Amino acid sequence: MHVSRFAVLLGLVVMAVGCGGEPEAPPVEITPGLQAFVGARIIDGTGDAPVEDGVLVVRDGRIEAVGARDAVDIPPDAEQIDVTGRTIIPGLINAHGHVNPSPYTEEQVESQLALYARYGVTTVFSLGGDGPEGMAVRDRQDTPDLDRARLFVAGPVVTGDTPEEAVERVNAVADSGFDIVKIRVDDNLGTSTKMTPEVYQAVIETAHQRGLRLAAHLYYLEDATGLLEAGADLIAHSVRDAEVDDELITLLRDSGVCYCPTLMREVSTFVYESRPDFFDDPFFLRDADPADIEAFSAPAFQERSRSRSAQTYKAQLEVAKRNLKTLSDAGIPIAMGTDTGPTARFQGYFEHGELALMVEAGLTPMQAIVASTSDAARCMEVDTDLGSLETGKWADFLVLGANPLDDIANTHSLETVYIAGNQVPGV
Ligand SMILES: [Zn+2]
Repeated sequence: MHVSRFAVLLGLVVMAVGCGGEPEAPPVEITPGLQAFVGARIIDGTGDAPVEDGVLVVRDGRIEAVGARDAVDIPPDAEQIDVTGRTIIPGLINAHGHVNPSPYTEEQVESQLALYARYGVTTVFSLGGDGPEGMAVRDRQDTPDLDRARLFVAGPVVTGDTPEEAVERVNAVADSGFDIVKIRVDDNLGTSTKMTPEVYQAVIETAHQRGLRLAAHLYYLEDATGLLEAGADLIAHSVRDAEVDDELITLLRDSGVCYCPTLMREVSTFVYESRPDFFDDPFFLRDADPADIEAFSAPAFQERSRSRSAQTYKAQLEVAKRNLKTLSDAGIPIAMGTDTGPTARFQGYFEHGELALMVEAGLTPMQAIVASTSDAARCMEVDTDLGSLETGKWADFLVLGANPLDDIANTHSLETVYIAGNQVPGV
């Protein structure tokens, strides 16, 4: 990219000064912060058909114009970037990830956001385990200088044995300034105590009173139904114990609540039972730590991935995939999520796996892209600024070498990532 961009600039200078005979036009001075990406296929994230030979104009980090070459005026003072033959898609939005470094410092949070960004994940909702440092990082991102993933944070996961106890914790989350409330309604395959409806109803009511939305971790269909009836705002994992039924579909449809499948979370439970193929994937190896590969190939770790619970999650992944297809067909908005961040769930790389699994479940590549861009943004209520390549939004996008509509695995052909029009370093 550096070479071709230089060549384009050079070309402009030659054109500006080299037209012999005519009175020489004054050289056009490039306006800082004004860029035109020219010649790519543009998939804008809305689900509309791609524009071939498109132009994307960015000014001060936001999209000024986008469309077919003959429909968009390229400002003469824009830096032109030749992206002929490439495909541009919006930056990926992960509606359920985690930024949970240890130690939890602002620097470490930013380092994980840089990793997400290098893989093209340009916005992350960290759903639980976040501290004030995460909010400090979040509060610095509304700037055209940004070149790491954007972050939104849930704070500590709200728990409680009684409504009073849980309500106190919701209030603490709200007082602290977090973006969303997260609860877990799960017994971990019968091994722990599940939050009761009485408690989660109180939590949801309080969250709403405090102006916060609520994301619910769950596993069972019965809990999904109960949580929706209580007013939950995001189903943060797949229903995995049973096929979704008409009651759930109706509740989702009537409430407009989105469904976040996190299929790669299931994969992470069992995939290390033997050395996973992706340990040899150049796209993974781009940013992999050899120590991780060694640790997750160790016999003891492999043994853990053969545990009964891991094997249950492995079997239930097939149910999760069927449920995703059923809900997508029913028109329920899907928000891409992965639950990356915890051990052996690779931030950035796994999001591409999630896209592939969505397609394996029966979604089209376009549906998987929409779920990872504009629908994820709408589901998380950040669509004013993010999620699609439309005028006025932040210029967060990926340049791919191959068309992901032909094969979703082509998201691995990631060449460059831009956040607010800034090239993410180290891609
Ligand atoms: Zn999670």
